[in-house]
Amino acid sequence: MTADAGRTGAEPLSSVCWCCGVNRDDAELVHLGNHPEVGICVSCARWVQRRARALEDRHSRGVAAHLRALVGSARAAVIARGWHERGRLGAFLRRLDRYLP
Ligand SMILES: [Zn+2]
Repeated sequence: MTADAGRTGAEPLSSVCWCCGVNRDDAELVHLGNHPEVGICVSCARWVQRRARALEDRHSRGVAAHLRALVGSARAAVIARGWHERGRLGAFLRRLDRYLP
């Protein structure tokens, strides 16, 4: 029996992000090429992209790689101190993070 049994097709298909577990409409998830059953939310996709970039940067000595490492260190420090969860400061930091590499 599938999860779609009894569906009329009118309501959106809800799925769970395989990374963080949040419920999202299936159309809002990013699906993997060879495993379309795996979907991750946009926030987790952004996180995965940053992790992939960090892996690439391990072997790079360029200025851009160095700047991304600095931003990553600053991001880790903010998260460790919980500043991203503090009212207006947290909202500002989360918004700023969307535009950082
Ligand atoms: Zn997620």
